[in-house]
Amino acid sequence: MVSFSEERPKNMAAGQNVISDAKSVLNMSITMTVSAQKPPAPPGCISVSRKKLLQNLEINAGARVNAWVDSMKASSPTHIKSLPSPSDDDVSWNLHHPSALEMFEQIIDESKGKQIVMFLDYDGTLSPIVEDPDRAFMSKKMRKTVRKLAKCFPTAIVSGRCRDKVYKFVKLAELYYAGSHGMDIKGPEKRSKSKKDSESVLFQPASEFLPMIDEVYKQLAETTKSTPGAKVENNKFCLSVHFRCVDEKVKANSQWQLQLLFAIQLQKHLIFCFKIQKWSELAQQVRSVLKKYPKLRLTQGRKVLEIRPTIKWDKGKALEFLLESLGFANCANVFPVYIGDDRTDEDAFKILRDRGQGFGILVSKFPKDTSASYSLQEPDEVMDFLRRLVEWKQLPVRAQSRM
Ligand SMILES: [Mg+2]
Repeated sequence: MVSFSEERPKNMAAGQNVISDAKSVLNMSITMTVSAQKPPAPPGCISVSRKKLLQNLEINAGARVNAWVDSMKASSPTHIKSLPSPSDDDVSWNLHHPSALEMFEQIIDESKGKQIVMFLDYDGTLSPIVEDPDRAFMSKKMRKTVRKLAKCFPTAIVSGRCRDKVYKFVKLAELYYAGSHGMDIKGPEKRSKSKKDSESVLFQPASEFLPMIDEVYKQLAETTKSTPGAKVENNKFCLSVHFRCVDEKVKANSQWQLQLLFAIQLQKHLIFCFKIQKWSELAQQVRSVLKKYPKLRLTQGRKVLEIRPTIKWDKGKALEFLLESLGFANCANVFPVYIGDDRTDEDAFKILRDRGQGFGILVSKFPKDTSASYSLQEPDEVMDFLRRLVEWKQLPVRAQSRM
C-alpha cells in the first residue's frame, strides 16, 4: 500500500479521512485513505513524494494498463449496474436492441425469400461462461438443437478457441468451424474414407505465426503464474489469457502487493492509499510480455484477453470468407445471422451492418456498445431462438409464408 501525506484541503471536514470514489480523475475504481495530518505511515504503507510517485507511474506505464483494466471491466461486467427499475439508458438500449425472441415474426419476415446462414459463437453463446474454460460444455439439449439447425440452414461455429477444442465441445461433424478467431477454417467432415480430414481445411491465414505463438504462450504461462486464477490457453493461431477466476480487487485479508497509483482531486494535493487491482496486475504482466512482440496485438473479450497476429483477419473476415465458400459471395438473397456475446464478435456484427444483409444478435444481460441489431440475454434464450427457427423452417412452405 502506498501512502502520501500533505496538507488537508480547507473544505475537508475534520475527521474525514476515508473517501470512496469509483470515478477518479484516472477513471479507476479505487478506495482512498486520506491522511488528515502527517501521521507515520501505517504498517504495510510506504511514504513517497508525489514527484517520485509521478516518476514511477511513468515507468510503470500505468495509464496504459489502466486503460486496459477499464476495457476489461467494460467487456466483463461482474454485477448488474442498473437499479431495480431500469434506467432511461437501459430502456433506450432495449428499444434499439430488442429481444430477438420478441421480434421473431419480424425477423422471419425480413428473411423471406432469402437463404438463412447461421454463424454461432461458442463461449457465452452456446455454452455458459464457467470458471474453468476447459469445462465450458454445451448442454445435450443445445447440441440437439444445433444439429437440427444445421439440417435446416448452413451453420458455422466461429470461436476464439482452437478449432480442435471447440470441435470437442460441439461434437457435430456436419458444421463449419472457424477457430482461432477465424484464422483456422474447416468445412464439414467428408464422409468418404478415402479422403483425409485435412482436405476439408479451407483457410489458415496465420500459419507463419505458429512458432511465435508457441513462444509467447510459454512466456505468458510463466509470467502470469503469480496471479491466482489466471489461465493462459493456447488456441494454436492465437492465445487467450482468461481472468474469469481472477479477483477484480485484492481482498483485505489477502497478500497486498505494491503498486504505485495516485489521484489528485479537489484541485489540491491529496495523496491516497489505493487498493491494488488484481486485474491491473494481470494486465501489467501481459503487457510486459507483449511489448517484445510488435507483430502480435491484444484485444479483449468477456473475461479474457486475446492475443493475435496483427494480420487483418477477424471473425468478420471469417464470416465473409465462409459466405464466399458457400457460394453467396455476390448473392443478394442471402440472410446471414450471427449470434455472439463478445467484443470480438463485433467485427462480424459490423460486417453484416455494412453489407446491409442479415443482422447480428448480441448475447448479453447488460447494455453494451454493439453493432448487433437484436439481443438475447443468455445461452438458454439462444437455444429458444434456434428452436423457433427450426420449427418455422419445418413448417409446410405455405404455413411459413403465413407467419
Ligand atoms: Mg463468446
